[in-house]
This record gives sequence, structure tokens and C-alpha cells, in this order.
Amino acid sequence: MAAAVICTTLLIEKSPQALPLGAACIASAVKNYPELKGLIEVSLKAFCLEDKDFPKDKNAASLYIANKLIEEAGNVCSGANASKSIFCFSCFVWNVGILEAAAKILREKGFVCIAGGPEITAHPSFYKGFDYTVSGEGEVSVPLLISNILNRYEKSDKVIISPSPDLSVIHSPYLDGIIDPSEYEGALWELARGCPYKCAYCYESKGQKTVRMFPMERIKAELELFAKKKVPQVFVLDPTYNVNKKRAVELLRLIASKTPDTFYYFEARAELIDRELAREFTRIPCALQIGLQSTNEETLKLVNRPFDKKKFTHGLSILNEEGVTFGLDLIYGLPGENFSSFRNGIDFAISQYPNNLEIFCLSVLPGTDLFDRADSLGLVYEKEPPYHVHHTKQISKEEMEKARKLAAACSYFYNAGRAVTWFNSLCNILKTKPSRFFEIFYEKNIALCENKNCCNENHLEIEKVQLSFLKQLFYERGMNKYYSTVEDIVKFYGAISRTVDTGKSEIVILNHNAEYVASNYASDIRWFTENVKCQKSKIQTFMNHGEADFRFVK
Ligand code: SF4
Repeated sequence: MAAAVICTTLLIEKSPQALPLGAACIASAVKNYPELKGLIEVSLKAFCLEDKDFPKDKNAASLYIANKLIEEAGNVCSGANASKSIFCFSCFVWNVGILEAAAKILREKGFVCIAGGPEITAHPSFYKGFDYTVSGEGEVSVPLLISNILNRYEKSDKVIISPSPDLSVIHSPYLDGIIDPSEYEGALWELARGCPYKCAYCYESKGQKTVRMFPMERIKAELELFAKKKVPQVFVLDPTYNVNKKRAVELLRLIASKTPDTFYYFEARAELIDRELAREFTRIPCALQIGLQSTNEETLKLVNRPFDKKKFTHGLSILNEEGVTFGLDLIYGLPGENFSSFRNGIDFAISQYPNNLEIFCLSVLPGTDLFDRADSLGLVYEKEPPYHVHHTKQISKEEMEKARKLAAACSYFYNAGRAVTWFNSLCNILKTKPSRFFEIFYEKNIALCENKNCCNENHLEIEKVQLSFLKQLFYERGMNKYYSTVEDIVKFYGAISRTVDTGKSEIVILNHNAEYVASNYASDIRWFTENVKCQKSKIQTFMNHGEADFRFVK
């Protein structure tokens, strides 16, 4: 009678980005390990903080997970062998505490618990609540360990450093049926492992500077599966998708032919974008996320991040010219960065017209180069997950808090408020830098910015907040006459974006002729206000061959 091997994790949310890929990869490797054939039944069991009955209290959550895992083991293999079950935990910074406590409960009942994942990889000897910890990619070591445990061949070390597997032979959890992307309304798609860069704050900082690619046959087969299952969105796991341009182009063509309607998210290097590649991106529905992190030269040197501002801006201008959607990332709390240089980073980022600007607090993750150098760099940070920086030599605790507020305001007003089209025009007419604008917005809208769920609000509601704030701001600055133009561009592009989003038409009444509002003239709010006469127009937005358009209505 077979024993159960249950691969498990705890997810923040049930979404394609949070899909339990790590646990699924281990389940797939265990399932296909020849020496375990007939000895085990494998199952993937993921828990989610959003599950209706998932306890809020951490102790109760651990107990809940332990009980559910025992139940799952009983379902997978009934009878006496359920007691021989082995549980494999995939641990991240934010879930390791709950999972380790669940493992302790299971071990008290005689079950074997193995842990892996990024947090364990970072410091495998630290977590004593598991029987075994496996550092690195577990596809080689975990099946071997389970085989040793079940066959009682040899005593295994408690801490195992797993060698990297050959990506041409490991099994795909999607093709194996271990994980169904339909259940998560999308997929996380691994194209490569490793990174040619070594940013000091990243787990890759101490790895080899190599990128290993998954074979094309596997990639094609997974694409065919995504097509068959009509997967709506795919998050590509390859930290620098365009480092190998030839392969990037080949894959984009393959994606366009197999899954033309699926939306893809890529991580890319702006410096390596050229016209040909940008045009290939336009052939599929997709968005790129690009790490900027800082514009401060000293900081970038300290974290070992190459940055060529000229090439970076050139790459982004090509994306803008070709109409490729992209977002940028920034980090606050980096060594060498003070509050003023961090604000410069925001101002530079916004000047590049990103669709979204994600701003994160630096985490000093154990297992990274930055962790080893943190003291000499003067980084003071939390000693427990999520290891956020409190303050540094250059940025005080109070300034870190101010940076956090800027991030919250940017997230609400710019990202959730879909302000990319008009935000730079707005800052120009107000003669206000983006970072200062976010500060002012935060002060007047603290509750909204601090509400974690506010960004999921209906966009129309956010637009009302934007308009009411802007009306007041223009009034306070004695610039009322420009408000009618501002109101038009906010309303017009808001309605267009919602129509793209939902496919639904909207009626909008504008102060000016919509043809002019939609034109480049409106990017200069001063010129537009002084040269375009007010003339009420009523329009209806609609989708026209995949693009949002508008028509005049009476
Ligand atoms: S942060 Fe991104 S680019 Fe830098 S080492 Fe990590 S994966 Fe590579």
C-alpha cells in the first residue's frame, strides 16, 4: 500500500501570480522518480489566506493546516499507510512561521516534514521545526530523500544542499496534471532559472551567473496546454526575458501563434530593448515590468546593479513609441540612497510614462550578498520576515515612513488611478514634481492611501477622488481656469481605460470637443486652455477591433 506525499504551501491570495508553482514542481519530481513508483501517492495541497474558513490567528492557522494535511493524507491513501505520510512545505519569507508551526504539530504526531523554498534556501540551518530542510532547487534532492526515508536505505542529513537539476529532464507540473492553470485563472510560466546579474539584495546575488533555459519542446507543449485550457493570463518567470534577444523573439512569435488571446506579463531589461523586439511585443497582448530600483549612481554601485541611464531611457522611449505597456519598480531604503535621491528616482521614473510605478521597501533577505554586508553598509532592518529596512546611514526612520507614504499615494493616485496618459502634463502645469504631488495627495487623502484594499476599488470611484482633489488644488493655487481641461482629460482617459477593461460603453460629457481632448494638443494643458474654446460634447466610448474608440452622441 502506497504512502502519501503531500506537497503544500500557504498562498497570500488565489491568483495566477500566487500559484503554488514551487510545491507543484516538487510534487512532479517526486511523482516521476523511478524508485518511488508504486510506493507513494503524490498530492498538491495549497492553502490560501483568502480561503473562507482560514483562521486569522496564526496559531489557529497552523493547527488548521496540520489537521487539513492529515485529512488530505487520509484521502490520498487510506488505512495504516496514511500514518507514514510525508509533508513537503514550500516556504517563503511571509509564510514560514505558520508553516513551521504546522510542521511541529505534524511531527508530534509522527509524520515526517521536509521544507524548501526561498526562505529555507536562504538559511537552511535556521528553521528547526522541520525534520529536513532542503536548500536550492529541490527536484533532485527531495525525491531522493523521500526514497531514503521510505526505503530506510541510509540516514540522510537534516540539512541538504540540493544540486541544480538539469532543466532538460525535469517534468512540468502543468503537463503532469499536478496543477491546473484553470483553477487559478492563469499560470506562472517558467522559461528559465538563474540570472546573469547579481543584484546584492536578490537571492541570485550569490548564485552562479548563469541562466539555464527550459527546452523548447517543453515550452511548446506548455503553450499548447495553455491554449487548450484557454488560460487568460500568464506571468512569465524569467527575470531578464530579453537578455537573449534571438530566443525572446522566437518565443514571442510562438506565443503569438499558439495563444494570441492570452495576456502575458514579462520582466525585462530596458537597456536591451530595441525596435525589432518592441514590435514583437506589440503582436501579443502583454505588459513588461522593468526594474529601475534607483537612479542614484552610488547606490546602484553598492548593490551591484549596472545602469546606463541613456540606454535605459532610449529603451523606454522605443516602448512608448511602439505602444508597448510597461511598468517600473523602485526600492526605498537602499544603501547610499537618501530621501532626496529616492524622490529623484520617483520623478525620473514618472517622466518615463510607466503604466504603473511599483515602490517597495528594501528587504535584507538572509542568504543574499546584501545581508552579509548589511552592517558595514549601515542598514538597520527587521530580524524577522519580511526583513524590512528600518533606517540606514543615509535615510532616517522618519524619512523611511515618508517614503512609504509616497509609495502608498503613488499606488492609489497613479497606478490605480490609471494616470499615465495625463500625469506628466498635470505636474507641468502645476509646476510640481511627481514626488511632491504624491506628498500633497497623501496629506489630503490619508485614509484612502492607507486602505490596503482601496486600489481594488471601482475605478470610477477613484476618478471621483482624483477630480475632487484636483479641483481643490487648482482652486487653492488660483489656477481654476485650467481645471475644465484637467477634468476633461481625466474623464476622457478614465472612460477609455474602463472600456478597454470591461468592453462596456460609457457616456461622458466633456467641457471641450472630444476630438481635441483626445489629441496631442491636450498634453499641454496651458496651451489647450488658452486656445481651445469650451464647447460641451457628449461622447460614447466603445470597443472597435480590439481598441477603445469614441463617437459623438446627442
Ligand atoms: S534582481 Fe532581477 S536582475 Fe537582479 S539578480 Fe535578481 S533576478 Fe537578476
